[in-house]
Amino acid sequence: MPDTAELSSRQLYLRLLTHVRPYWRQFALCVLAMIVMALSEPAIPALLKPLLDGTFVTKDPETMKWTPILLVGLFFVRGFANFVADVGFEWVSSKVVYNLRRELFVNILRLPTRYFDENSTGNIISKVTYNSSQVAAAATRVLTVLIKDSLTVVGLIAYMLWLDWRLTLAVFLLLPLVAWVVRVAAVRMRRLNRQLQGMMGDMTHCLEEAVRGHRVIKVFGGQPASAQRFDHQSNWVRRFQVKLKVADAAAGPLVEIIGALMLALLIYVGTRQVGDGEALTVGGFVAFLTALGLLFPPIKRLTGINQPLQRGLAAAESVFALIDHPPEPDSGGRVIGRAEGRLEFRDVCFRYRDGGDEVLSGINFVAEPGKTVALVGPSGGGKSTIASLIPRFYLPSAGTILLDGIDIRELSLEGLRNNLSMVGQDPMLFNDTVAANIAFGRPGAPKPQELERIAEAAHALEFIRKLPEGFDALIGEDGVRLSGGQRQRLAIARALYKDAPVLILDEATSALDSESERQVQAALQRLTEHRTTIVIAHRLSTIEHADLILVVKDGRIVERGAHAELLAAGGEYTTLYNTQFRRDQAGAFQ
Ligand code: ADP
Repeated sequence: MPDTAELSSRQLYLRLLTHVRPYWRQFALCVLAMIVMALSEPAIPALLKPLLDGTFVTKDPETMKWTPILLVGLFFVRGFANFVADVGFEWVSSKVVYNLRRELFVNILRLPTRYFDENSTGNIISKVTYNSSQVAAAATRVLTVLIKDSLTVVGLIAYMLWLDWRLTLAVFLLLPLVAWVVRVAAVRMRRLNRQLQGMMGDMTHCLEEAVRGHRVIKVFGGQPASAQRFDHQSNWVRRFQVKLKVADAAAGPLVEIIGALMLALLIYVGTRQVGDGEALTVGGFVAFLTALGLLFPPIKRLTGINQPLQRGLAAAESVFALIDHPPEPDSGGRVIGRAEGRLEFRDVCFRYRDGGDEVLSGINFVAEPGKTVALVGPSGGGKSTIASLIPRFYLPSAGTILLDGIDIRELSLEGLRNNLSMVGQDPMLFNDTVAANIAFGRPGAPKPQELERIAEAAHALEFIRKLPEGFDALIGEDGVRLSGGQRQRLAIARALYKDAPVLILDEATSALDSESERQVQAALQRLTEHRTTIVIAHRLSTIEHADLILVVKDGRIVERGAHAELLAAGGEYTTLYNTQFRRDQAGAFQ
Protein backbone atom coordinates (compact mmCIF):
# COMPACT_ATOMS: atom_id res chain seq x y z
CA MET A 1 0.00 0.00 0.00
CA PRO A 2 2.67 2.61 0.85
CA ASP A 3 4.39 1.90 -2.46
CA THR A 4 1.35 2.49 -4.63
CA ALA A 5 0.48 5.57 -2.57
CA GLU A 6 3.95 6.88 -3.13
CA LEU A 7 3.92 6.09 -6.81
CA SER A 8 0.66 7.90 -7.36
CA SER A 9 1.95 10.77 -5.21
CA ARG A 10 4.84 11.11 -7.58
CA GLN A 11 2.57 10.95 -10.60
CA LEU A 12 0.24 13.50 -9.07
CA TYR A 13 3.10 15.82 -8.30
CA LEU A 14 4.55 15.43 -11.76
CA ARG A 15 1.16 16.26 -13.17
CA LEU A 16 0.97 19.31 -10.94
CA LEU A 17 4.36 20.34 -12.25
CA THR A 18 3.09 20.21 -15.83
CA HIS A 19 0.91 23.14 -14.79
CA VAL A 20 4.08 24.94 -13.77
CA ARG A 21 5.71 24.36 -17.15
CA PRO A 22 4.36 27.54 -18.84
CA TYR A 23 6.14 29.57 -16.17
CA TRP A 24 9.40 27.66 -16.27
CA ARG A 25 11.49 30.82 -16.61
CA GLN A 26 10.19 32.38 -13.41
CA PHE A 27 10.32 28.97 -11.81
CA ALA A 28 13.94 28.50 -12.84
CA LEU A 29 14.79 31.87 -11.34
CA CYS A 30 13.22 30.82 -8.04
CA VAL A 31 15.09 27.53 -8.08
CA LEU A 32 18.32 29.42 -8.78
CA ALA A 33 17.64 31.73 -5.86
CA MET A 34 17.03 28.73 -3.67
CA ILE A 35 20.22 27.03 -4.80
CA VAL A 36 22.06 30.21 -3.76
CA MET A 37 20.28 30.02 -0.39
CA ALA A 38 21.12 26.36 0.05
CA LEU A 39 24.76 26.74 -0.93
CA SER A 40 25.26 29.71 1.33
CA GLU A 41 24.13 27.67 4.32
CA PRO A 42 27.28 25.48 4.66
CA ALA A 43 29.25 28.68 4.05
CA ILE A 44 28.24 29.82 7.56
CA PRO A 45 30.06 27.02 9.43
CA ALA A 46 32.77 27.11 6.76
CA LEU A 47 33.38 30.75 7.71
CA LEU A 48 33.29 29.92 11.39
CA LYS A 49 36.23 27.54 11.14
CA PRO A 50 38.79 30.16 9.90
CA LEU A 51 37.12 32.72 12.12
CA LEU A 52 37.82 30.69 15.23
CA ASP A 53 41.11 29.10 14.21
CA GLY A 54 42.44 32.28 12.58
CA THR A 55 41.28 34.90 15.07
CA PHE A 56 40.96 33.45 18.53
CA VAL A 57 43.58 30.74 18.17
CA THR A 58 46.33 32.02 15.81
CA LYS A 59 45.29 35.72 15.65
CA ASP A 60 45.95 36.03 11.92
CA PRO A 61 45.29 39.74 10.95
CA GLU A 62 44.11 38.95 7.38
CA THR A 63 41.46 36.50 8.63
CA MET A 64 40.42 38.97 11.34
CA LYS A 65 39.80 41.58 8.62
CA TRP A 66 38.03 39.51 5.99
CA THR A 67 35.85 37.08 7.84
CA PRO A 68 33.44 39.72 9.29
CA ILE A 69 33.11 41.38 5.87
CA LEU A 70 32.46 38.03 4.24
CA LEU A 71 29.86 37.24 6.89
CA VAL A 72 27.88 40.41 6.18
CA GLY A 73 28.19 39.87 2.42
CA LEU A 74 26.98 36.31 2.84
CA PHE A 75 23.83 37.37 4.68
CA PHE A 76 23.20 40.09 2.14
CA VAL A 77 23.23 37.56 -0.70
CA ARG A 78 21.06 35.18 1.31
CA GLY A 79 18.51 37.87 2.08
CA PHE A 80 18.19 38.84 -1.56
CA ALA A 81 17.92 35.24 -2.74
CA ASN A 82 15.31 34.55 -0.09
CA PHE A 83 13.17 37.45 -1.24
CA VAL A 84 13.36 36.45 -4.90
CA ALA A 85 12.47 32.85 -4.11
CA ASP A 86 9.56 33.73 -1.82
CA VAL A 87 7.91 36.22 -4.15
CA GLY A 88 8.67 34.20 -7.28
CA PHE A 89 7.14 31.03 -5.90
CA GLU A 90 4.05 32.83 -4.74
CA TRP A 91 3.65 34.27 -8.21
CA VAL A 92 4.05 30.93 -9.94
CA SER A 93 1.71 29.19 -7.52
CA SER A 94 -0.94 31.87 -7.84
CA LYS A 95 -0.82 31.33 -11.60
CA VAL A 96 -1.13 27.58 -11.13
CA VAL A 97 -4.17 27.95 -8.88
CA TYR A 98 -5.74 30.46 -11.21
CA ASN A 99 -5.34 28.10 -14.15
CA LEU A 100 -6.61 25.13 -12.15
CA ARG A 101 -9.68 27.07 -11.06
CA ARG A 102 -10.36 28.13 -14.62
CA GLU A 103 -9.99 24.56 -15.87
CA LEU A 104 -12.27 23.31 -13.10
CA PHE A 105 -14.92 25.87 -13.85
CA VAL A 106 -14.88 25.22 -17.57
CA ASN A 107 -15.25 21.51 -16.94
CA ILE A 108 -18.05 22.04 -14.45
CA LEU A 109 -19.93 23.81 -17.23
CA ARG A 110 -19.55 20.75 -19.45
CA LEU A 111 -20.26 18.01 -16.92
CA PRO A 112 -23.11 15.64 -17.60
CA THR A 113 -26.29 16.16 -15.56
CA ARG A 114 -25.68 12.78 -13.97
CA TYR A 115 -22.58 14.15 -12.24
CA PHE A 116 -24.67 16.79 -10.51
CA ASP A 117 -27.14 14.10 -9.42
CA GLU A 118 -24.34 12.13 -7.84
CA ASN A 119 -22.27 14.91 -6.24
CA SER A 120 -23.49 17.52 -3.84
CA THR A 121 -23.17 21.18 -4.74
CA GLY A 122 -21.08 21.80 -1.64
CA ASN A 123 -18.57 19.18 -2.67
CA ILE A 124 -18.21 20.61 -6.14
CA ILE A 125 -17.88 24.14 -4.79
CA SER A 126 -15.29 23.23 -2.21
CA LYS A 127 -13.15 21.61 -4.89
CA VAL A 128 -12.83 24.94 -6.65
CA THR A 129 -12.47 27.08 -3.52
CA TYR A 130 -10.79 25.03 -0.80
CA ASN A 131 -9.07 22.14 -2.55
CA SER A 132 -7.42 24.27 -5.20
CA SER A 133 -5.88 26.49 -2.55
CA GLN A 134 -4.53 23.38 -0.86
CA VAL A 135 -2.92 22.54 -4.15
CA ALA A 136 -1.35 26.01 -3.99
CA ALA A 137 0.23 25.15 -0.67
CA ALA A 138 1.68 22.03 -2.23
CA ALA A 139 2.95 23.99 -5.18
CA THR A 140 4.64 26.72 -3.11
CA ARG A 141 5.58 25.88 0.42
CA VAL A 142 6.30 22.30 -0.36
CA LEU A 143 8.47 23.11 -3.34
CA THR A 144 10.33 25.81 -1.44
CA VAL A 145 11.08 23.46 1.39
CA LEU A 146 11.78 20.49 -0.83
CA ILE A 147 14.26 22.26 -3.05
CA LYS A 148 15.86 24.66 -0.63
CA ASP A 149 15.99 22.45 2.42
CA SER A 150 17.05 19.28 0.69
CA LEU A 151 19.83 21.17 -1.09
CA THR A 152 20.82 22.74 2.23
CA VAL A 153 20.92 19.32 3.84
CA VAL A 154 23.03 17.94 1.00
CA GLY A 155 25.39 20.95 1.18
CA LEU A 156 25.78 20.70 4.93
CA ILE A 157 26.34 16.98 4.86
CA ALA A 158 28.92 17.37 2.09
CA TYR A 159 30.73 19.94 4.18
CA MET A 160 30.60 17.71 7.25
CA LEU A 161 31.93 14.75 5.28
CA TRP A 162 34.72 16.93 4.05
CA LEU A 163 35.52 18.01 7.60
CA ASP A 164 35.50 14.53 9.07
CA TRP A 165 33.84 11.65 7.27
CA ARG A 166 34.10 9.14 10.09
CA LEU A 167 32.41 11.43 12.52
CA THR A 168 29.70 12.18 9.98
CA LEU A 169 29.04 8.52 9.27
CA ALA A 170 28.84 7.72 12.94
CA VAL A 171 26.23 10.42 13.43
CA PHE A 172 24.22 9.41 10.42
CA LEU A 173 23.79 5.82 11.44
CA LEU A 174 20.55 7.10 12.90
CA LEU A 175 19.31 8.56 9.63
CA PRO A 176 17.20 5.56 8.45
CA LEU A 177 15.19 5.97 11.64
CA VAL A 178 14.27 9.49 10.55
CA ALA A 179 13.22 8.23 7.13
CA TRP A 180 10.96 5.60 8.67
CA VAL A 181 9.18 8.10 10.94
CA VAL A 182 8.59 10.42 7.99
CA ARG A 183 7.18 7.65 5.84
CA VAL A 184 4.72 6.35 8.39
CA ALA A 185 3.45 9.87 9.08
CA ALA A 186 3.08 10.57 5.34
CA VAL A 187 0.78 7.64 4.64
CA ARG A 188 -1.47 8.43 7.58
CA MET A 189 -1.71 12.12 6.77
CA ARG A 190 -2.60 11.52 3.17
CA ARG A 191 -5.54 9.37 4.23
CA LEU A 192 -6.69 11.82 6.86
CA ASN A 193 -6.49 14.69 4.40
CA ARG A 194 -8.62 12.92 1.87
CA GLN A 195 -11.29 12.39 4.52
CA LEU A 196 -10.99 15.96 5.75
CA GLN A 197 -11.67 17.33 2.28
CA GLY A 198 -14.80 15.22 1.99
CA MET A 199 -15.98 16.58 5.35
CA MET A 200 -15.28 20.14 4.24
CA GLY A 201 -17.49 19.50 1.23
CA ASP A 202 -20.32 18.21 3.43
CA MET A 203 -20.00 21.20 5.71
CA THR A 204 -20.10 23.60 2.76
CA HIS A 205 -23.18 21.81 1.49
CA CYS A 206 -24.95 22.19 4.82
CA LEU A 207 -24.01 25.87 4.91
CA GLU A 208 -25.25 26.40 1.41
CA GLU A 209 -28.58 24.79 2.25
CA ALA A 210 -28.94 27.10 5.23
CA VAL A 211 -28.31 30.16 3.06
CA ARG A 212 -30.44 29.11 0.11
CA GLY A 213 -33.21 27.59 2.15
CA HIS A 214 -33.42 30.19 4.90
CA ARG A 215 -37.08 30.87 4.26
CA VAL A 216 -38.10 27.23 4.49
CA ILE A 217 -35.96 26.80 7.59
CA LYS A 218 -37.62 29.78 9.25
CA VAL A 219 -41.17 28.81 8.45
CA PHE A 220 -40.79 25.17 9.32
CA GLY A 221 -38.75 25.90 12.44
CA GLY A 222 -35.80 23.94 11.06
CA GLN A 223 -33.19 25.95 12.95
CA PRO A 224 -32.43 23.37 15.65
CA ALA A 225 -32.14 20.52 13.15
CA SER A 226 -30.00 22.58 10.76
CA ALA A 227 -27.81 23.86 13.56
CA GLN A 228 -27.38 20.36 14.85
CA ARG A 229 -26.39 19.04 11.45
CA PHE A 230 -23.92 21.83 10.93
CA ASP A 231 -22.57 21.33 14.42
CA HIS A 232 -22.11 17.64 13.75
CA GLN A 233 -20.34 18.23 10.46
CA SER A 234 -18.12 21.05 11.59
CA ASN A 235 -17.15 18.99 14.61
CA TRP A 236 -16.06 16.22 12.27
CA VAL A 237 -13.95 18.73 10.37
CA ARG A 238 -12.44 19.86 13.67
CA ARG A 239 -11.74 16.31 14.79
CA PHE A 240 -9.96 15.49 11.58
CA GLN A 241 -7.91 18.65 11.81
CA VAL A 242 -6.79 17.62 15.28
CA LYS A 243 -6.05 14.07 14.12
CA LEU A 244 -3.93 15.52 11.36
CA LYS A 245 -2.09 17.69 13.83
CA VAL A 246 -1.43 14.67 16.04
CA ALA A 247 0.20 12.82 13.17
CA ASP A 248 2.11 15.94 12.17
CA ALA A 249 3.16 16.96 15.67
CA ALA A 250 4.33 13.48 16.62
CA ALA A 251 6.73 13.34 13.69
CA GLY A 252 8.61 16.56 14.64
CA PRO A 253 9.62 15.70 18.24
CA LEU A 254 10.49 12.15 17.24
CA VAL A 255 12.94 13.49 14.70
CA GLU A 256 14.32 15.89 17.29
CA ILE A 257 14.89 13.12 19.81
CA ILE A 258 16.80 11.23 17.15
CA GLY A 259 18.77 14.47 16.63
CA ALA A 260 19.67 14.62 20.29
CA LEU A 261 20.94 11.04 20.06
CA MET A 262 23.13 12.13 17.18
CA LEU A 263 24.51 14.99 19.21
CA ALA A 264 25.35 12.68 22.12
CA LEU A 265 27.15 10.36 19.73
CA LEU A 266 29.03 13.28 18.23
CA ILE A 267 30.31 14.52 21.55
CA TYR A 268 31.33 11.02 22.53
CA VAL A 269 33.13 10.11 19.28
CA GLY A 270 34.34 13.65 18.47
CA THR A 271 36.02 14.34 21.77
CA ARG A 272 37.73 10.96 21.68
CA GLN A 273 39.12 11.68 18.25
CA VAL A 274 40.37 15.05 19.41
CA GLY A 275 41.98 13.26 22.31
CA ASP A 276 43.75 10.93 19.87
CA GLY A 277 45.16 14.08 18.28
CA GLU A 278 44.02 12.77 14.88
CA ALA A 279 41.57 15.26 13.55
CA LEU A 280 39.60 18.30 14.37
CA THR A 281 40.85 21.67 15.43
CA VAL A 282 38.68 23.69 17.81
CA GLY A 283 37.37 25.69 14.86
CA GLY A 284 36.72 22.45 12.97
CA PHE A 285 34.81 20.96 15.87
CA VAL A 286 32.68 24.10 16.33
CA ALA A 287 32.08 24.25 12.57
CA PHE A 288 30.99 20.60 12.62
CA LEU A 289 28.67 21.20 15.54
CA THR A 290 27.25 24.30 13.88
CA ALA A 291 26.72 22.44 10.62
CA LEU A 292 24.92 19.68 12.49
CA GLY A 293 22.84 22.28 14.33
CA LEU A 294 22.00 23.98 11.05
CA LEU A 295 21.00 20.62 9.67
CA PHE A 296 18.07 20.20 12.04
CA PRO A 297 15.77 23.05 11.01
CA PRO A 298 15.73 22.01 7.33
CA ILE A 299 15.33 18.34 8.29
CA LYS A 300 12.52 19.29 10.61
CA ARG A 301 10.88 21.31 7.87
CA LEU A 302 11.36 18.43 5.47
CA THR A 303 9.51 16.11 7.84
CA GLY A 304 6.87 18.79 8.53
CA ILE A 305 6.38 19.18 4.81
CA ASN A 306 4.33 16.06 4.79
CA GLN A 307 1.19 17.70 6.01
CA PRO A 308 0.89 20.40 3.33
CA LEU A 309 2.29 17.97 0.79
CA GLN A 310 -0.16 15.22 1.58
CA ARG A 311 -2.99 17.69 1.88
CA GLY A 312 -1.96 19.21 -1.43
CA LEU A 313 -1.73 15.83 -3.09
CA ALA A 314 -5.10 14.71 -1.76
CA ALA A 315 -6.49 17.98 -3.06
CA ALA A 316 -4.72 17.61 -6.39
CA GLU A 317 -6.20 14.14 -6.66
CA SER A 318 -9.76 15.41 -6.30
CA VAL A 319 -9.11 18.46 -8.46
CA PHE A 320 -7.67 16.37 -11.28
CA ALA A 321 -10.51 13.87 -10.96
CA LEU A 322 -12.96 16.69 -11.61
CA ILE A 323 -10.87 18.14 -14.44
CA ASP A 324 -10.61 14.68 -16.02
CA HIS A 325 -14.26 13.79 -15.63
CA PRO A 326 -15.56 13.16 -19.13
CA PRO A 327 -17.87 15.90 -20.38
CA GLU A 328 -21.35 15.25 -21.72
CA PRO A 329 -21.18 12.90 -24.69
CA ASP A 330 -21.32 15.01 -27.83
CA SER A 331 -20.54 12.58 -30.61
CA GLY A 332 -23.29 13.62 -32.98
CA GLY A 333 -21.75 15.55 -35.82
CA ARG A 334 -24.85 16.52 -37.72
CA VAL A 335 -25.28 20.25 -37.80
CA ILE A 336 -28.70 21.74 -38.37
CA GLY A 337 -29.84 25.28 -38.58
CA ARG A 338 -33.24 26.32 -37.31
CA ALA A 339 -35.49 23.30 -37.02
CA GLU A 340 -39.11 23.29 -38.02
CA GLY A 341 -39.88 21.89 -34.60
CA ARG A 342 -41.42 18.46 -35.07
CA LEU A 343 -40.57 16.50 -31.98
CA GLU A 344 -41.14 12.79 -31.74
CA PHE A 345 -40.62 10.25 -28.96
CA ARG A 346 -40.41 6.73 -30.35
CA ASP A 347 -40.57 3.84 -27.85
CA VAL A 348 -38.48 5.75 -25.37
CA CYS A 349 -37.46 3.97 -22.17
CA PHE A 350 -35.29 5.42 -19.48
CA ARG A 351 -33.64 4.52 -16.21
CA TYR A 352 -31.54 6.90 -14.14
CA ARG A 353 -29.05 4.26 -13.17
CA ASP A 354 -27.90 1.19 -15.05
CA GLY A 355 -29.76 -1.70 -13.53
CA GLY A 356 -32.10 0.67 -11.69
CA ASP A 357 -35.86 0.85 -12.03
CA GLU A 358 -37.30 1.83 -15.38
CA VAL A 359 -38.62 5.38 -14.88
CA LEU A 360 -40.08 5.66 -18.39
CA SER A 361 -41.24 2.85 -20.60
CA GLY A 362 -42.58 2.86 -24.13
CA ILE A 363 -43.12 6.60 -24.45
CA ASN A 364 -44.53 7.39 -27.89
CA PHE A 365 -45.85 10.73 -29.05
CA VAL A 366 -45.43 13.38 -31.69
CA ALA A 367 -45.47 17.11 -31.14
CA GLU A 368 -46.21 18.71 -34.48
CA PRO A 369 -44.50 22.02 -35.30
CA GLY A 370 -46.07 24.91 -33.45
CA LYS A 371 -48.36 22.71 -31.37
CA THR A 372 -48.57 22.36 -27.61
CA VAL A 373 -48.30 19.03 -25.86
CA ALA A 374 -49.25 19.08 -22.20
CA LEU A 375 -47.89 16.47 -19.81
CA VAL A 376 -50.13 15.90 -16.84
CA GLY A 377 -50.28 13.25 -14.18
CA PRO A 378 -49.46 12.48 -10.58
CA SER A 379 -46.18 13.64 -9.18
CA GLY A 380 -43.34 11.16 -9.65
CA GLY A 381 -44.98 9.83 -12.81
CA GLY A 382 -42.09 10.84 -15.07
CA LYS A 383 -43.13 14.18 -16.62
CA SER A 384 -39.92 16.02 -15.72
CA THR A 385 -37.89 13.07 -16.86
CA ILE A 386 -39.54 13.21 -20.30
CA ALA A 387 -38.74 16.92 -20.48
CA SER A 388 -35.12 16.43 -19.45
CA LEU A 389 -34.50 13.91 -22.22
CA ILE A 390 -35.21 16.51 -24.91
CA PRO A 391 -32.10 18.69 -24.32
CA ARG A 392 -30.14 15.43 -23.86
CA PHE A 393 -29.52 16.00 -20.17
CA TYR A 394 -29.79 12.22 -20.16
CA LEU A 395 -29.81 9.71 -22.99
CA PRO A 396 -32.73 7.27 -23.30
CA SER A 397 -31.87 3.68 -22.39
CA ALA A 398 -33.91 2.55 -25.38
CA GLY A 399 -35.85 4.14 -28.21
CA THR A 400 -35.23 7.39 -30.01
CA ILE A 401 -36.16 11.02 -29.80
CA LEU A 402 -36.34 12.81 -33.14
CA LEU A 403 -36.27 16.46 -34.01
CA ASP A 404 -37.52 17.10 -37.56
CA GLY A 405 -37.12 13.36 -38.17
CA ILE A 406 -33.45 13.28 -37.09
CA ASP A 407 -32.37 11.24 -34.07
CA ILE A 408 -31.20 13.88 -31.58
CA ARG A 409 -28.18 11.70 -30.81
CA GLU A 410 -26.94 12.42 -34.32
CA LEU A 411 -27.07 16.15 -33.72
CA SER A 412 -24.30 18.11 -32.12
CA LEU A 413 -25.31 19.21 -28.61
CA GLU A 414 -24.97 22.81 -29.66
CA GLY A 415 -27.09 22.31 -32.77
CA LEU A 416 -29.79 20.58 -30.75
CA ARG A 417 -29.84 23.06 -27.88
CA ASN A 418 -29.83 26.05 -30.22
CA ASN A 419 -33.27 24.88 -31.19
CA LEU A 420 -34.56 24.63 -27.63
CA SER A 421 -35.48 27.03 -24.94
CA MET A 422 -36.67 26.35 -21.46
CA VAL A 423 -38.68 28.05 -18.76
CA GLY A 424 -38.52 26.28 -15.42
CA GLN A 425 -40.62 26.34 -12.30
CA ASP A 426 -38.17 28.37 -10.32
CA PRO A 427 -36.55 30.63 -12.89
CA MET A 428 -32.81 30.82 -12.60
CA LEU A 429 -31.66 34.41 -12.75
CA PHE A 430 -27.97 35.24 -12.80
CA ASN A 431 -26.23 37.87 -10.75
CA ASP A 432 -26.09 40.37 -13.61
CA THR A 433 -28.20 43.08 -15.22
CA VAL A 434 -31.78 42.59 -16.37
CA ALA A 435 -30.60 42.99 -19.97
CA ALA A 436 -27.88 40.37 -19.56
CA ASN A 437 -30.40 37.97 -18.04
CA ILE A 438 -32.77 38.37 -20.96
CA ALA A 439 -30.04 38.06 -23.57
CA PHE A 440 -28.37 35.26 -21.60
CA GLY A 441 -26.09 33.09 -23.71
CA ARG A 442 -26.66 35.07 -26.89
CA PRO A 443 -23.50 36.47 -28.44
CA GLY A 444 -23.04 40.22 -28.82
CA ALA A 445 -24.55 43.12 -26.94
CA PRO A 446 -28.36 43.12 -26.97
CA LYS A 447 -30.02 45.92 -28.95
CA PRO A 448 -32.12 48.24 -26.77
CA GLN A 449 -35.13 48.28 -29.12
CA GLU A 450 -35.06 44.51 -29.36
CA LEU A 451 -34.93 44.19 -25.58
CA GLU A 452 -37.87 46.54 -25.17
CA ARG A 453 -39.92 44.68 -27.71
CA ILE A 454 -39.20 41.34 -26.03
CA ALA A 455 -39.81 42.69 -22.55
CA GLU A 456 -43.12 44.11 -23.67
CA ALA A 457 -44.15 40.79 -25.18
CA ALA A 458 -43.20 39.11 -21.92
CA HIS A 459 -45.27 41.65 -19.97
CA ALA A 460 -42.11 42.67 -18.18
CA LEU A 461 -41.48 46.12 -19.60
CA GLU A 462 -43.63 47.89 -17.07
CA PHE A 463 -41.82 46.64 -13.99
CA ILE A 464 -38.38 46.85 -15.63
CA ARG A 465 -39.03 50.53 -16.33
CA LYS A 466 -39.81 51.03 -12.66
CA LEU A 467 -36.45 49.58 -11.57
CA PRO A 468 -33.91 52.28 -10.67
CA GLU A 469 -31.63 51.54 -13.62
CA GLY A 470 -34.15 49.87 -15.91
CA PHE A 471 -32.54 47.23 -18.09
CA ASP A 472 -29.18 47.93 -16.46
CA ALA A 473 -30.47 47.20 -12.96
CA LEU A 474 -28.47 44.49 -11.25
CA ILE A 475 -30.44 41.50 -10.13
CA GLY A 476 -29.30 40.36 -6.72
CA GLU A 477 -28.21 36.80 -6.13
CA ASP A 478 -30.92 34.53 -7.50
CA GLY A 479 -33.09 37.54 -8.28
CA VAL A 480 -34.03 38.20 -4.68
CA ARG A 481 -35.19 41.70 -5.43
CA LEU A 482 -37.91 40.55 -7.81
CA SER A 483 -41.26 38.96 -7.08
CA GLY A 484 -42.02 35.43 -8.21
CA GLY A 485 -44.18 36.63 -11.09
CA GLN A 486 -41.56 39.12 -12.21
CA ARG A 487 -38.86 36.50 -12.21
CA GLN A 488 -41.05 34.22 -14.27
CA ARG A 489 -41.68 36.95 -16.79
CA LEU A 490 -37.94 37.57 -17.08
CA ALA A 491 -37.43 33.87 -17.73
CA ILE A 492 -40.13 34.05 -20.39
CA ALA A 493 -38.41 37.10 -21.91
CA ARG A 494 -35.17 35.12 -22.03
CA ALA A 495 -36.90 32.33 -23.94
CA LEU A 496 -38.57 34.85 -26.27
CA TYR A 497 -35.22 36.47 -26.94
CA LYS A 498 -33.69 33.15 -27.87
CA ASP A 499 -36.62 32.51 -30.17
CA ALA A 500 -36.04 28.77 -30.50
CA PRO A 501 -38.63 26.63 -32.33
CA VAL A 502 -39.05 24.18 -29.44
CA LEU A 503 -39.97 25.23 -25.92
CA ILE A 504 -39.83 23.13 -22.78
CA LEU A 505 -42.01 24.65 -20.14
CA ASP A 506 -42.35 23.57 -16.56
CA GLU A 507 -45.21 25.58 -15.18
CA ALA A 508 -44.85 26.99 -11.72
CA THR A 509 -46.99 25.19 -9.19
CA SER A 510 -46.98 28.01 -6.70
CA ALA A 511 -49.99 30.27 -7.00
CA LEU A 512 -49.32 33.90 -7.80
CA ASP A 513 -51.77 36.69 -7.03
CA SER A 514 -54.37 37.05 -9.78
CA GLU A 515 -52.76 40.08 -11.38
CA SER A 516 -49.32 38.46 -11.64
CA GLU A 517 -50.95 35.25 -12.73
CA ARG A 518 -52.78 37.02 -15.52
CA GLN A 519 -49.59 38.73 -16.67
CA VAL A 520 -47.55 35.51 -16.59
CA GLN A 521 -50.27 33.67 -18.50
CA ALA A 522 -50.42 36.39 -21.12
CA ALA A 523 -46.63 36.32 -21.47
CA LEU A 524 -46.67 32.54 -21.78
CA GLN A 525 -49.31 32.72 -24.44
CA ARG A 526 -47.06 34.97 -26.50
CA LEU A 527 -44.15 32.63 -25.92
CA THR A 528 -45.93 29.46 -26.97
CA GLU A 529 -47.42 30.93 -30.15
CA HIS A 530 -45.96 29.27 -33.26
CA ARG A 531 -43.61 27.20 -31.13
CA THR A 532 -43.61 23.49 -30.44
CA THR A 533 -44.21 23.43 -26.71
CA ILE A 534 -43.82 20.55 -24.31
CA VAL A 535 -45.37 21.73 -21.10
CA ILE A 536 -45.49 20.10 -17.70
CA ALA A 537 -48.89 21.54 -16.98
CA HIS A 538 -50.31 22.61 -13.66
CA ARG A 539 -52.86 25.14 -14.85
CA LEU A 540 -56.26 24.48 -16.22
CA SER A 541 -55.98 27.13 -18.94
CA THR A 542 -52.81 25.49 -20.25
CA ILE A 543 -54.33 22.05 -20.64
CA GLU A 544 -57.53 23.40 -22.08
CA HIS A 545 -55.59 25.09 -24.85
CA ALA A 546 -53.16 22.23 -25.44
CA ASP A 547 -53.37 20.43 -28.78
CA LEU A 548 -52.53 17.13 -27.16
CA ILE A 549 -52.67 16.05 -23.55
CA LEU A 550 -50.61 13.10 -22.35
CA VAL A 551 -51.50 11.61 -18.99
CA VAL A 552 -48.25 10.21 -17.58
CA LYS A 553 -48.42 7.76 -14.74
CA ASP A 554 -45.80 5.33 -13.46
CA GLY A 555 -43.58 6.07 -16.44
CA ARG A 556 -46.21 5.34 -19.07
CA ILE A 557 -48.61 7.36 -21.12
CA VAL A 558 -51.93 6.04 -19.89
CA GLU A 559 -54.23 8.35 -21.81
CA ARG A 560 -53.92 10.82 -24.65
CA GLY A 561 -56.16 13.25 -26.50
CA ALA A 562 -57.66 16.72 -26.32
CA HIS A 563 -59.29 18.09 -23.20
CA ALA A 564 -62.91 17.53 -24.19
CA GLU A 565 -62.26 14.05 -25.57
CA LEU A 566 -60.49 12.94 -22.42
CA LEU A 567 -63.15 14.38 -20.17
CA ALA A 568 -65.81 12.56 -22.13
CA ALA A 569 -63.88 9.28 -21.78
CA GLY A 570 -64.16 9.57 -18.01
CA GLY A 571 -60.86 7.81 -17.21
CA GLU A 572 -57.66 8.77 -15.43
CA TYR A 573 -57.79 12.30 -16.82
CA THR A 574 -61.25 12.96 -15.45
CA THR A 575 -60.16 11.94 -11.97
CA LEU A 576 -57.11 14.15 -12.25
CA TYR A 577 -59.19 17.01 -13.56
CA ASN A 578 -61.65 16.73 -10.72
CA THR A 579 -59.02 16.48 -8.01
CA GLN A 580 -56.31 18.79 -9.28
CA PHE A 581 -57.33 21.25 -11.94
CA ARG A 582 -60.85 22.02 -10.82
CA ARG A 583 -59.44 23.24 -7.55
CA ASP A 584 -57.09 25.54 -9.45
CA GLN A 585 -59.98 26.95 -11.29
CA ALA A 586 -61.68 27.82 -8.06
CA GLY A 587 -58.49 29.41 -6.75
CA ALA A 588 -56.24 31.20 -9.18
CA PHE A 589 -58.53 31.17 -12.19
CA GLN A 590 -61.72 32.79 -11.11
P1 ADP B 1 -42.77 14.06 -12.30
O1 ADP B 1 -42.11 15.16 -13.05
O2 ADP B 1 -43.91 13.45 -13.03
O3 ADP B 1 -43.16 14.44 -10.91
P2 ADP B 1 -40.17 12.84 -12.34
O4 ADP B 1 -39.82 12.72 -13.79
O5 ADP B 1 -39.56 13.95 -11.59
O6 ADP B 1 -41.75 12.86 -12.16
O7 ADP B 1 -39.78 11.50 -11.62
C1 ADP B 1 -40.03 10.23 -12.11
C2 ADP B 1 -39.30 9.20 -11.27
O8 ADP B 1 -37.91 9.32 -11.46
C3 ADP B 1 -39.56 9.35 -9.79
O9 ADP B 1 -39.72 8.07 -9.26
C4 ADP B 1 -38.29 9.97 -9.27
O10 ADP B 1 -38.01 9.51 -7.97
C5 ADP B 1 -37.25 9.47 -10.24
N1 ADP B 1 -36.17 10.48 -10.45
C6 ADP B 1 -36.34 11.76 -10.83
N2 ADP B 1 -35.14 12.39 -10.96
C7 ADP B 1 -34.19 11.48 -10.64
C8 ADP B 1 -32.74 11.51 -10.60
N3 ADP B 1 -32.06 12.59 -10.91
N4 ADP B 1 -32.11 10.38 -10.23
C9 ADP B 1 -32.80 9.26 -9.93
N5 ADP B 1 -34.14 9.16 -9.97
C10 ADP B 1 -34.84 10.25 -10.32
